[in-house]
Amino acid sequence: RPVLEFRDVWFGYRPGAPVLRGVGFTVPARGQVALVGPSGAGKSTIFALAERFYEPDRGSVLLHGRDARFTPYDRHRAAVGLVEQDSPLLAGTLRDNLLYGAGPVTDRDLNRVLAMTGLTRVAAGLPAGLDTPVGDHGRRLSGGQRQRVAIARCLLARPDLILLDEPTAHLDPDSERALAATLHDVAQVCALMIIAHRFTTVRSASRVLVIDDGVIAASGTPGELLLTS
Ligand code: ADP
Ligand code: ADP
Repeated sequence: RPVLEFRDVWFGYRPGAPVLRGVGFTVPARGQVALVGPSGAGKSTIFALAERFYEPDRGSVLLHGRDARFTPYDRHRAAVGLVEQDSPLLAGTLRDNLLYGAGPVTDRDLNRVLAMTGLTRVAAGLPAGLDTPVGDHGRRLSGGQRQRVAIARCLLARPDLILLDEPTAHLDPDSERALAATLHDVAQVCALMIIAHRFTTVRSASRVLVIDDGVIAASGTPGELLLTS
């Protein structure tokens, strides 16, 4: 059963001006679904509805096959995590940042998530390991490391689906490729839906949805959409 489904979703920020016009898709429980399309097409709006920040005007958003309207709001929000382009970090330690909002976490779970997100090596390279202060806004970490922390923090809260707004947007090509490899690993344990601006991100998706002016203009695997060589 898909973790998330949009069924003929219509939504506008103002009456009479629909921004999404009959959007339907499913997100399987594992793998990466990439959203591509021009600025203003409606990608962020799809995320806002997936998070239940807004409700559809028509149609429905289903979580695990159940209309989200009938799921308690808190439970829906706990099931859907969000990673932004530049994830805000606290001025505490790496550990503080990872565990922020996560609830109780066993060492085993923490170590598994650290390994999966490539942070085991990052922590090992810091003077006090996980207890090293990361600095204001995580200044002591690189952009790629900060994104890894954001993804790890999200995983520790045990969501069913993680929404990522082009997590490699501000990374150099090497860090971009490395993070794409990590996302591929993460997608084996959790569903990912990613707003994709970069070719690397699109190419590693299991399914691509092309959004244009509030509709799904095309969908398929990267190969089917002729996005791979
Ligand atoms: P994308 O993420 O693909 O760039 P968005 O979902 O942000 O597209 O925007 C889709 C349309 O909705 C655009 O016309 C945008 O101007 C409009 N829009 C987005 N957010 C708001 C908002 N909070 N209030 C009013 N209009 C909005
Ligand atoms: P930077 O922005 O410093 O280049 P990266 O995102 O490239 O950061 O990598 C951060 C850390 O994660 C590095 O220590 C790197 O060795 C490690 N790493 C990179 N890719 C992977 C991967 N696929 N699996 C595990 N660890 C990785």
